[in-house]
Amino acid sequence: MLFDDLEKQLEERKENHLYRSRKVIESPQTVEPVVDGKKVLSFCSNDYLGLANHPDVVKSFKRAADSYGVGSGSAHLVSGHSAEHHQLEQELAEFIGTERVLLFSTGYMANLGVVSALCDRHSKIYEDKLNHASLLDAALLSRAKRVRYLHNDIEQLSSRLEMSSNENKLIVTDGVFSMDGDLAPLNDIARLASEYSAALMVDDAHGIGVLGTKGKGIIEHLGIDIKKVPILVGTLGKAFGTAGAFVAGSEALIETLIQKSRSYIFTTAMPAAVAAATRTSLQLVENENWRREKLQSLISQFRKGAAELGLTLMDSNTAIQPVVIGSSGDTVVLSEKLLARNILISAIRPPTVPEGTSRLRITFSATHTEEHVDELLTVLDEIR
Ligand SMILES: *Cc1c(COP(=O)(O)O)cnc(C)c1O
Repeated sequence: MLFDDLEKQLEERKENHLYRSRKVIESPQTVEPVVDGKKVLSFCSNDYLGLANHPDVVKSFKRAADSYGVGSGSAHLVSGHSAEHHQLEQELAEFIGTERVLLFSTGYMANLGVVSALCDRHSKIYEDKLNHASLLDAALLSRAKRVRYLHNDIEQLSSRLEMSSNENKLIVTDGVFSMDGDLAPLNDIARLASEYSAALMVDDAHGIGVLGTKGKGIIEHLGIDIKKVPILVGTLGKAFGTAGAFVAGSEALIETLIQKSRSYIFTTAMPAAVAAATRTSLQLVENENWRREKLQSLISQFRKGAAELGLTLMDSNTAIQPVVIGSSGDTVVLSEKLLARNILISAIRPPTVPEGTSRLRITFSATHTEEHVDELLTVLDEIR
């Protein structure tokens, strides 16, 4: 019977330090949220630019709720596609420099929707081993043949592409890897894509808004022509501080997704107020360079301080600065010790990361201060 084993399996998870539980937040999402009645210093949110509780973003959300109410009432193709959604799509297309953009309710759904609309059992999908879970699930759902290549291993990707005679090939990669913070070698991947006539899809959930002078993400950071990335996915719940996601690409791609993407068609549109709030976020993302500059300076401060303490960091210059601990048990203990010192950093364990690489995934926000980073370094030093 389906239910007979559940309790035993849950017990096993606990024994293996893999049991996950939620902390209840009783405040806005800032670098100092209130957890269980206690104000803590958080280094694990993806609100990289500090926009989730920005007064202008909140104001736009409230104003749009007054005009549009809360629920969008139906899917985009029925009656849920408001003027706010429509405007946001056009503004995002202009921002990225693509013909069209399509909004999805979440990044997870965007990835499922794109891959399963474009690929079928006759396709072949090449994925980096460390790609986000939603990209791996997307390939599974599409029923395509799946080929994984070692993390950022261009040689291996190249030889796997060379071995294939399949005509419908798609290379899929994170832009900034979500648990490691490093970047995909996108220039090389784009070159391979064109050499082997493969389509290329980049999920820049952690790069959009953060990387590049204007916040256009990895393509701006590496100086890559957007035409070389025919499918770009960005999420709105991280640097943009709101919720949802978008796919950027050609007119033909977007129209195809509107016709065929099941996670677009068969779901309720995000509330119009979320779209309105995101339009304000987009302006802040574009115009407030100081947020990205501040973030970079905090990242440098942390890396320098951590090196002085002899902490081993990963090859990352982004806001994601993981400290790999190894065993899940040790990582959980450190996370608890940090919380006892009022610092919130969650323990990231398998299957989110490979076995034996459990880590404290430290993230920074433009709204942290130098004193916050000093505090983090002091406590990390004392508890290890
Ligand atoms: C967070 C994330 C997603 C999912 O986006 P949501 O909007 O949170 O569903 C997709 N891809 C990557 C790389 C992510 O980090």
